[in-house]
Amino acid sequence: MARIIFMTGAGISADSGIPTFRSAGGLWHDYSVDKVANMLTWKKNFTIVHEFFNARRAECKDVEPNAAHHMVKRLQDRFDAIVYTQNIDDLFEKAGCENVIHVHGRINDMSCTACGNVFEIGFGHWDETTDTCPKCASRKGVKPGPIFFHEVAPLYPSMWKALLSTTPDDLVIFIGTSGQVIDVAGIAETIRAKTVLSNLESDPSLPEHAFDHVVHGRAVDTASAIEAYVEGIFG
Ligand code: NAD
Ligand code: ZN
Repeated sequence: MARIIFMTGAGISADSGIPTFRSAGGLWHDYSVDKVANMLTWKKNFTIVHEFFNARRAECKDVEPNAAHHMVKRLQDRFDAIVYTQNIDDLFEKAGCENVIHVHGRINDMSCTACGNVFEIGFGHWDETTDTCPKCASRKGVKPGPIFFHEVAPLYPSMWKALLSTTPDDLVIFIGTSGQVIDVAGIAETIRAKTVLSNLESDPSLPEHAFDHVVHGRAVDTASAIEAYVEGIFG
């Protein structure tokens, strides 16, 4: 049976009030991304790393899913659809979606580099001066759960496998991703499925000719056009 794979990025949650990665010219809330999410330097920047992610957890706590998350849920109710998301927020889950794979981790988790334990703290505050890993009691080894630059993303292999096993009957829909972290144009060019790209606007660094169908605009405004496109193919 034909299936749909959604691949989403920060842009799908922008209309819910969570700023995207590149919305401030490479600064994420006035923090250098390279400083707060870098596997090679995070221990050196320990306090600011935890300060930044405490703020992100507080930011994600009360936000609500938008029309794009609800559109994904409706399509999941009708078709065989899975979501590979770069988003660390939980808005797909809040919208009732299932089969959501967070390839860059989740904001609610902490990850202990000393023993490998990944554990959930919800939207709570992590006190980096006293809090420790519940399994091995390490303090300095505990980092936020989201995958950092230069960190191995353990869920990528299952994502590559799903994408490479698509057929021309399948549809892969990319929403709100610049393609700077995961090369979505390269994926679109490589896989056999039909592809849709939906972003706010064109970006010279993302070659849109690699995709079969392109929709521009805010995620809340393009959701119905994407749903209609899917219905036109599968409905
Ligand atoms: P990105 O910030 O690099 O790119 C955002 C993309 O979304 C752009 O292509 C832009 O055109 C589009 N966009 C912006 N506003 C939009 C809107 N209102 N509607 C539709 N599209 C919109 O995002 P990325 O490719 O996901 O890479 C950023 C990395 O940072 C990811 O690895 C992700 O884990 C992390 N991140 C996550 C969140 C989140 O979970 N909500 C937020 C910021 C960053
Ligand atoms: Zn541990």
